[in-house]
Amino acid sequence: MPGEELAVEEEFSPGDGTFCSNGVVRAAQAGKVFYDMINRRVNVIPFKRSGLMAMRTARIVTGVVVGMRDDVAFVEVFSVDDKEVGSRIDAVLPSSQVVERAGEPLTNYIRLGDLIRARPVNKSVPLVLTLKQKDLGVIYATCSNCGAVLLRQDNDHLRCQRCGQVERRKIGAYMVRRVGGQGS
Ligand SMILES: [Zn+2]
Repeated sequence: MPGEELAVEEEFSPGDGTFCSNGVVRAAQAGKVFYDMINRRVNVIPFKRSGLMAMRTARIVTGVVVGMRDDVAFVEVFSVDDKEVGSRIDAVLPSSQVVERAGEPLTNYIRLGDLIRARPVNKSVPLVLTLKQKDLGVIYATCSNCGAVLLRQDNDHLRCQRCGQVERRKIGAYMVRRVGGQGS
């Protein structure tokens, strides 16, 4: 953080993103501290994305599933602790952090294009996410058959109001509720 003491000048000379006063090298900007042992210089590398600062204390993130393989889903995080971040943060969701019964496909839990609420288990990019907690999971999804918005049917099924398709998900704090009296 700006003003933070990084070194004394006898040990490390001030490098990028730092300043020196009274023999003490301090950070001139927020970022990651890098001690260059070869040149005996200390540098502060600015965070590339504004969201990275928020990530330090992130408890819950919201993102969209942008890619899927058998063992991992790729997620772009656009909100950290319910605050939108400037640019999307790359995240991965390993199947081990989703699948509850061994051998089940990841697509029983999430699918491409779903919005998910997840908890980060690390603090660097790419974020590693988990859904293994109550209320974490899919919060918005569309029908893979016709594209209409899916409504919540029960604890782990969503139903399309247009074509009747039923799809399984790990459902979090789902945003679209079943319309009273409809569905099954
Ligand atoms: Zn449908």
